[in-house]
Amino acid sequence: MSSSIIEPGASGPQADARVSRPQSYRAAVVHEFGAPLSVERVRAAALTAGQVRVKVEASGLCHTDIHAAHGDWPVKPSPPFVPGHEGVGRVVELGPGVTEVAVGERVAMPWLGYACGSCDHCVSGWETLCLEQKNMGYSIDGGFGEYAVAYGRYVVRVPDGIDSFDAAPLTCAGVTTYKAVKVAGTRSSDLVAVFGVGGLGHLAIQYAAIAGGRVIAIDLIDDKLALARELGAEFTINAATEDPIEAIQRLGGADQAIALAVSPRAFEQAYGSLRRGGTLVFVALPADNEVRLPIFETVLNGITIVGSIVGTRADLREVFALHGAGRTHVIRETRPLGDVNDAIADLEAGRVAARIVFEP
Ligand SMILES: [Zn+2]
Ligand SMILES: [Zn+2]
Repeated sequence: MSSSIIEPGASGPQADARVSRPQSYRAAVVHEFGAPLSVERVRAAALTAGQVRVKVEASGLCHTDIHAAHGDWPVKPSPPFVPGHEGVGRVVELGPGVTEVAVGERVAMPWLGYACGSCDHCVSGWETLCLEQKNMGYSIDGGFGEYAVAYGRYVVRVPDGIDSFDAAPLTCAGVTTYKAVKVAGTRSSDLVAVFGVGGLGHLAIQYAAIAGGRVIAIDLIDDKLALARELGAEFTINAATEDPIEAIQRLGGADQAIALAVSPRAFEQAYGSLRRGGTLVFVALPADNEVRLPIFETVLNGITIVGSIVGTRADLREVFALHGAGRTHVIRETRPLGDVNDAIADLEAGRVAARIVFEP
């Protein structure tokens, strides 16, 4: 790379905004939906107002990145684009007007890459619902590169003592499940069913337990259920060999069910596992965008169904604080960014214990 790049820690907080930038850098680019990503050199654009350039140290692979690369969802990104919304690295350059972070600080670049800051959602602590939002790795280029450009106001500082390779999965999988447990309203002694023990589920189990819940983990793979037990699940159910609805109803029914598996069938099972007055939280976003749920039982049983999308900057700070205090464990494996297509194939085939984190 260019010798003009500022190395981490080389500049104090007073470093000016005219730092020279890389001319180009390596990144994994989606040129066409469904085609393999191309790892290639891309041009480094000049920063505009509010932006920061980050030298990426670690960047997690989320199912959302695969859906983005496939163009699976009703709202699609526009190729070419760089996926990645779990990027973590050091700020190396500040665009005009940035006051929130300084050169040399380590930050996380989450899905909520930008919001307007002044609409009803933003001012009421629901910036994740802002209609003006931009999303890292989707509507703006993300963390699958040696560098990434983010908005200084929407990055979140990573406390010292947290490994960047842990911070990356916490930036989406962590904050998303942390928020889902908050939205579920889990309290001590609640029975919480976590459907899907992957990158998100392994953290959801821990947050539900921290909130005081007794956790049931449901998956199709025994190794993942063993991991779930290590991470605090009291009960595990292999939905390939046992009906999770019957099994959970035998336990009295779940007070909350959190749907993290990218399968409408799992959502229906999560619904069926609830006790009266229970809450179902929709989190995963299957490519198949339909789920069939009964109206009659929902009304009579007083069921709440709620969607939960990622979390705010404040939520992510709390996630980092919990991890810094040793309350959570991140299960991940590191791979070079050049292996991005193999990593995607492994994640799609269920061959990944929890999270893959790329090293650029
Ligand atoms: Zn994600
Ligand atoms: Zn807004």
